[in-house]
Order: sequence, then C-alpha cells, then structure tokens
Amino acid sequence: MNIMNYAIDGYKDIQTSKYIGIFGNPIKHTLSPVIHDTISKELGIDERYIPFHITENLGEAVNTAFFDGVLGLNITVPYKQEVMPYLVDIDPAAKAIGAVNTLVRMKDGYKGYNTDMPGLAKAIESEGIVIKDSKVVMLGAGGAARAVAYMCVYYGAKEVYIVNRTYDNAKKIADDMNTEFGKENIIPIEAASYKEIPQDKYIFIQCTSVGLHDGDGLPVVSDEEFYKMAECGVDLIYNPVQTPFLALVEGLGGKAFNGLKMLLYQGVMAYELWNDVKVSEKIIHKVYNELKKAIYGNNIVLIGFMGSGKTTVGKYLEEHYGYSFLDTDAYIEEKEGMSISDIFEVKGEEYFRALETSILKDFTHTLHKTVLSTGGGMPLRQENASLLQEIGQVFYLNASSNSIYKRVKSDTSRPLLQVDDPYAKICEMLDIRNPIYSDTANVVVNTDDITVSDISKEIISKL
Ligand code: NDP
Repeated sequence: MNIMNYAIDGYKDIQTSKYIGIFGNPIKHTLSPVIHDTISKELGIDERYIPFHITENLGEAVNTAFFDGVLGLNITVPYKQEVMPYLVDIDPAAKAIGAVNTLVRMKDGYKGYNTDMPGLAKAIESEGIVIKDSKVVMLGAGGAARAVAYMCVYYGAKEVYIVNRTYDNAKKIADDMNTEFGKENIIPIEAASYKEIPQDKYIFIQCTSVGLHDGDGLPVVSDEEFYKMAECGVDLIYNPVQTPFLALVEGLGGKAFNGLKMLLYQGVMAYELWNDVKVSEKIIHKVYNELKKAIYGNNIVLIGFMGSGKTTVGKYLEEHYGYSFLDTDAYIEEKEGMSISDIFEVKGEEYFRALETSILKDFTHTLHKTVLSTGGGMPLRQENASLLQEIGQVFYLNASSNSIYKRVKSDTSRPLLQVDDPYAKICEMLDIRNPIYSDTANVVVNTDDITVSDISKEIISKL
C-alpha cells in the first residue's frame, strides 16, 4: 500500500519533493491545503499538502505514511485520540489535553503535538485579549474544549468556569485539568451551572458545535442576561462568519471574533514544526486572506471616477449574484451624520481622506462576499490603495470623459464639480487619476457602450 492510495481525488497524482498532509474522515472539505500550500509557495519550498481519507486501520496508515517519507501530518476528526498509540512520543501538553492534531517525523516514527491549544492562544493574543489574570467562562466540554481549558490554565487565567449541556463532561475536563496542574498549584477550573457563576466580566469562549447550522440559537444557555457578563466573546466556529453567540455579544457591546485565526495559527505552528522554519507575519497575513477567500468568497472592490457606474454595477451584483453591497461614501455619511459635501466644507478634504483610510482598515477584517463601491478619490492615497487590495479583488470601472460628463452633469451633489467648466475639470482630473486607478486595480473594465449586466458578467468571470 502506498500513502497516495489514501489521497482524495484531485490529489492522487501530485508529484513533489516532500509530502505533508492530513488524516481524517470526512476530509474532502478541509481548508488546510490553503494554509500549507500558500506557506510553501511563499517560502519557495517544494512541498505539497495532501488530504488523506482514512476510513479504517489508522495504525497501518500512520506506518505507511512514515515508510513513504511523509514529513508531517495533521490529524482531525475522528482520530485525534485514536492516533496516540501509534506514535513514538507525545508532547506533554498534547498528552494532558488528550488529543493530538499534529505528527512530526522523528527517527523511528512520529511524535504527536497539539497545536490547537497554542494556536488559539496566539489567535486570542492577536486580538489584543490577554488570558493572564483574566476570568473565563467556557461554553461546551467536547474535544476542542479540553484544549481550551488547558490553554486557560497554562496561560494563567485567574478563574475558569465550564458550562455544558452535559454537566459530567464539564466536570471530567475540570477534574483532569486540576489533576494535571494541581501539583503546581495553579488556578482551579470549575464545572458550573450558569446561575452559579458570580456576576462579573469574563472572556467567554464558545466551544460547542451550536451555531454551525442555519437556525441554531444560543449555545447551552438561552438566557440573554447571562451574556451581559461577556466583555468579549470568542467562538471556535468560523463558518458561518458570525454565530448567534457572536452576534449577541457584539450587540451587547463586547468585542467578538470567530475561530478562523485559531485555524490559521494551529496550521502555521504545525508547518513550523515540520519544516523547522519561522513563518513571518507577512506570510501569515497572506494565508489569512487566502483562507477568508476560500471560506467566505472574495470581496469585489469597485474603483473609478464619479459616474463610472460603481453604485449601479454594485447594486446589480447584489441583486443577481448574492453579494452584499456597501458604498463607502454612504457609509461615511451615516457615520458622520452629514453629507460628503458638508464634510468637505466643514472639516476639509484631508479629514475626509483620513476617515476613508480608517474605515478601510476595519473593512479588511469585517467584509465577506461584499461589493465595496468606493469614493472616486479613495485610491489616491497610497495607503488606501494597499488596503483596497487587501479587502478584495479590485476592479477599475473605466469610462471616457464624455460618458462621465453625460452621466454627472446635472448632479449638484458632487463638490468637486461645482466649477464654471465641469467638463474641463473632469478631463483634468481623469488625466491625473487614470494611471492611479489602473495601478491599483487587478482588472480594468471598460464601461462605455456596454450594459450593466455585461459589466457584471465580466467581473464575475474574472474572480
Ligand atoms: P465535540 O463533538 O467534541 O463537542 C461538542 C460540544 O458541543 C459538547 O460540549 C456538546 O455538549 C456541545 N453540544 C453539541 N450539540 C449541542 C446542543 N444542541 N446543545 C448544547 N450543546 C451542544 O466537538 P469539538 O469539541 O471537536 O468541536 C466543537 C466546535 O469547535 C466545533 O464547532 C468545531 O467546528 C470547532 N472547532 C474549531 C477549531 C478551529 O480551528 N477554529 C478547531 C476545533 C474545533 P455535550 O457534552 O452535552 O454533548
């Protein structure tokens, strides 16, 4: 038996110098190749990541991988515990958690690690949340919760409560962690009913599978009052992008984020273990963007001069292709409570441009499958141009000065065109902006003499 016999369709014929991969069942929809293949590509390492579908004889599959030279493996559901007897060594943290998600090649076999735990710690830290000396409420007591409980104690949380549908499962994790860490006299971790938890502010970590499916409600506790104690909420689920739990925490004013960065960092950490390299923040950022695209779909960013059709095309894409639509000018007007003309007049253009940059920074995290229609001057700042690239694929809707003049001549809401000769002004501005728009865009789309439907089709075909 060759290890490539286990590879899923589409991967069986891949030839490379080094193989890494993942064992699981089911495994077809794993996103891990996006993480590892992106890193290999960025680092110029000739190595490919293969999803292996293991339905039985896990031990035999592990041995085959080793004899066939597989450098390292991830292990996912349902094998994170079952794989342990087939390893030559297990990292103490993985042993205490009771789950291995990463196998690293040693001289005589594989050593098991758990990178879910430090991956989540890194994800939380990257959001500016500090576990040390914090109070934590965990919801759920399954496999992932064990890693979360370990992380809380390991990184020095002050108090940890586990609330779960089945109390005994929460008690088992609490008891195991207290035994594991008890000898070092670290904080106690407690299984609790939600009513027993003292009124205070906590980091809530949502570790159940509730929220994965349409129609799911709140996990474990449906009493909304309870969630007022959440100063921030972390959900291990990343698809959908916002679970009912995260929506509630955010609605109550807490910071809320999903499990995508946990997925990201557990992968990065596994890659570092396999290849003995340090993956830079720049590459991690790139991988994160690739993951977002793979899961949520790419955003479409429309740039161009006023009157180039950004709003019309954006709304068409919303109606016909299922995208959300967001117009930066409308967004700013709502945020500032005044029109763009008034912002220019009262606060000045520089203020407005800074505002544009600040909202773009937010959009790099928050937009998914959205068409972003941008103000005409948006890409003029170099910083904005890079942010637009980060948000999604950038399309320049190009139009001639004649077309633009025809489209905007009777519009009095455009502050830059309130001059004696608007046509000359358009020509002058287009001369300056055209090269900037073209440089910022991934794709230039001509909008003269072409229908909105055809422009939209061209955009979709280029994604
Ligand atoms: P498990 O099946 O081991 O545990 C499931 C947990 O959810 C248990 O606490 C279970 O409670 C609870 N639960 C399930 N259904 C319900 C329900 N209807 N009402 C209340 N509680 C319920 O799953 P895992 O621990 O492996 O994974 C949990 C979640 O974490 C999954 O959604 C998974 O996608 C996510 N995850 C994300 C990762 C990432 O990288 N971001 C990594 C790993 C997991 P009970 O004990 O009573 O059965």
